[in-house]
Amino acid sequence: MGLVSAKEMLEKAKAGKYAVGQFNINNLEWTKAILLTAQENNSPAILGVSEGAGKYMGGYDAVVGMVNGLMKDLNITVPIALHLDHGSYEGAKKCILAGFSSIMFDGSSLPFEENVEKTKELVAACNILGLSLEAEVGSIGGEEDGVVGLGECADPEECKTIADLGITMLAAGIGNIHGVYPDNWAGLQFDVLDAIQQKTGAMPLVLHGGTGIPDDMIKKAISLGVSKINVNTECQLVFAEATRKYIEAGKDQQGKGFDPRKLLAPGFQAIKDKVKEKMEVFGSIDKA
Ligand SMILES: [Zn+2]
Repeated sequence: MGLVSAKEMLEKAKAGKYAVGQFNINNLEWTKAILLTAQENNSPAILGVSEGAGKYMGGYDAVVGMVNGLMKDLNITVPIALHLDHGSYEGAKKCILAGFSSIMFDGSSLPFEENVEKTKELVAACNILGLSLEAEVGSIGGEEDGVVGLGECADPEECKTIADLGITMLAAGIGNIHGVYPDNWAGLQFDVLDAIQQKTGAMPLVLHGGTGIPDDMIKKAISLGVSKINVNTECQLVFAEATRKYIEAGKDQQGKGFDPRKLLAPGFQAIKDKVKEKMEVFGSIDKA
């Protein structure tokens, strides 16, 4: 099966009260680990590619070629979407042409009217091609007030305006933060999430910054309408840790331990374990 849009898998997730993980990829090992774990656990999955990661891998055509090739060679039959993460308007257009099956346009830092206009244009393009489109609504405060630990929170009215443009899924700040959470983090703002869901109805909501949010908060967020959760930093941390242990144990200096296929194997396995753990928490296992 080839790549699919994220629309059907997320609508099913929203109706079934579970979430599909977006796992960001950086190279072949990352991609293979996530695809195999999804297949082994009969789970849908979304492969996230940031513009920086796309550039790192050589470009969007290289990414599409690698992912499509792995899907075919590994006989992946579960639903997989290839998704641009936090795309600019230009990046979104490039990924649409390159063959991505899902796009995020992040206009959250633009003036709201411009975010609406550009999102509208991309809705039209994605609809014609059958791609899913994620949009993001900007912050209504938080760090500007010097309250770093609060994270960003979106305005539910703005969320409704963007959701009504015909997008597939909506990212809105509910106190979540990218990367590692600060010690003084106030936690997810469930009242904001609840207000957003009431305004946006059946629209699947996206939780960014999934690394380090306690499992009980994740489960509550899913019960309040979150159907896509982005995981990036967490896979990077376990990959680095497993690779460091291999080197520190001197294994790269034993026999042919320097072979990249051996050197990268512990990190590969660590990503597989982490992705499976996330699929269990998100409830997406056997939902393919
Ligand atoms: Zn994000």
